[in-house]
Amino acid sequence: MRLLWLRNDLRLEDHAGWQQLADYSGDTAAVFILPAHWRRTDATGLHRLGTAKAAYVQQSLADLSERLATFRLTLLQGEPIELLLAWHRLQPFELVTHAAQAPEEAGWLARLRDAGINVQTFEAQPLFSPEQVSSLFYDFPASFSGFRRQVEKSPAWPVPTPQPAADLGRLQAANCPFMTGIDWPAMPRESAHPAWQGGETAAEHWLHHYLFERRALAHYKASRNGLTGRYFSSHLSAALAWGCLSSRTVWHRILAYEQQWGSDEHSYWLRFELLWREYFHWSLRVHGSQLFAADGLTGKAMPGAFNPEYWHSWCEASTGWPMIDAGLKELMTTGFCSNRLRQNLASCFIHELGLDWRLGARFFEQHLLDFDVASNWGNWAYISGAGHDPHHGRHFNPHRQWRQYDPELIHLYQWLPELGAVTPEQVESHQRGERLLDYPAPLVPLEC
Ligand SMILES: Cc1cc2nc3c(=O)[nH]c(=O)nc-3n(C[C@H](O)[C@H](O)[C@H](O)COP(=O)(O)OP(=O)(O)OC[C@H]3O[C@@H](n4cnc5c(N)ncnc54)[C@H](O)[C@@H]3O)c2cc1C
Repeated sequence: MRLLWLRNDLRLEDHAGWQQLADYSGDTAAVFILPAHWRRTDATGLHRLGTAKAAYVQQSLADLSERLATFRLTLLQGEPIELLLAWHRLQPFELVTHAAQAPEEAGWLARLRDAGINVQTFEAQPLFSPEQVSSLFYDFPASFSGFRRQVEKSPAWPVPTPQPAADLGRLQAANCPFMTGIDWPAMPRESAHPAWQGGETAAEHWLHHYLFERRALAHYKASRNGLTGRYFSSHLSAALAWGCLSSRTVWHRILAYEQQWGSDEHSYWLRFELLWREYFHWSLRVHGSQLFAADGLTGKAMPGAFNPEYWHSWCEASTGWPMIDAGLKELMTTGFCSNRLRQNLASCFIHELGLDWRLGARFFEQHLLDFDVASNWGNWAYISGAGHDPHHGRHFNPHRQWRQYDPELIHLYQWLPELGAVTPEQVESHQRGERLLDYPAPLVPLEC
């Protein structure tokens, strides 16, 4: 039997794994396993399956099942390796799955191979093929700019064309020996944003709408730092993180847009951001577990402690800094907040509260519906100074940031309506510790 193990590649198009099932003449099956440990809460109160994320994955799997029509997708919950080993003992198979991105996944694949299972991998997440990037493996660029310059200047770096979906019409899924189905957590959440409807079908619609109907790419570079609204940025991150769309598909769709409407700084900039994603992806694959250490890629110990009072207030979105609390509320309610907010949340967590950047990364990991291990940990490391940053970290001035990006307090009012009508000056004074508002005192006065 040939078994396709799906992880964050929940699509049919541009997917070499499905093609490998279609090419096989024996029995086949495809499985998604929700890891039991994602739901286990640790000593800090964190787990890995926030409600928005769970809803997105559940919807994506439902969509995939529908698109598969007669071929049944097997859904399991438990520890993936234990389940796969047990299944293999009952019914031997060769396993097809996409290449490991994080060390945890690499460890999983190694355990399966050690147990004698033939594991074949393909690429599902990155823009470039391993052959294109192999030249970087021995001397990985220390900065994004170094990577981008190589990629943009050399004719050896075209983004491969996405492959059409395999013809799965004649396949019959083999039976799974275990009880199937996933007992999803209760999910009261209903997101208003169409991009947060999980699944390849919804992601395709959103991409088409964003590029060709709404033509929102026409203002991308100017609006991408926004905090609120449907079109300030592409909102493609969840579809990319869960693999409902391949990054190659998005890239080539932008090229098609440029063919139709012409290329400009805005269309270029969306591809530029996809290169950031790519950079973090290959950086993680090159540096592995080093990224998760306190001193990250720098080898210099990063300060960062655990302060229960600060941590508790953070998790309750009650830091006493209204601008930060508004961002935390958005993140915990919807599973998303803008890049600008993420940068400021991370900067305050690390540089104002002095907390360990890795705890912040794990907090995001629980809540973000677009959680992507390389992008999340790479960005946190970057802001803390433990990552790829020639400036040794980013410390944002929150007052200045909000004056620039939420001057009319639209985001603030949306998430903290209880504050009523306040002025930016009152908020700033409160955040500096002057207690002008009927609002909790700031944990630390924001002096900057
Ligand atoms: C602390 C922190 C944690 C983050 N965690 C994640 C994460 O877990 N998953 C994730 O996809 N992005 C993460 N990002 C990057 C970025 O914030 C999101 O990709 C972006 O906000 C998603 O919205 P969008 O799709 O509208 O982005 P757009 O601005 O439309 O960008 C298009 C795509 O480019 C990629 N991209 C954009 N900015 C970045 C970036 N800085 N790093 C890597 N890729 C980028 C994403 O795939 C994104 O969907 C993080 C950023 C920070 C500062």
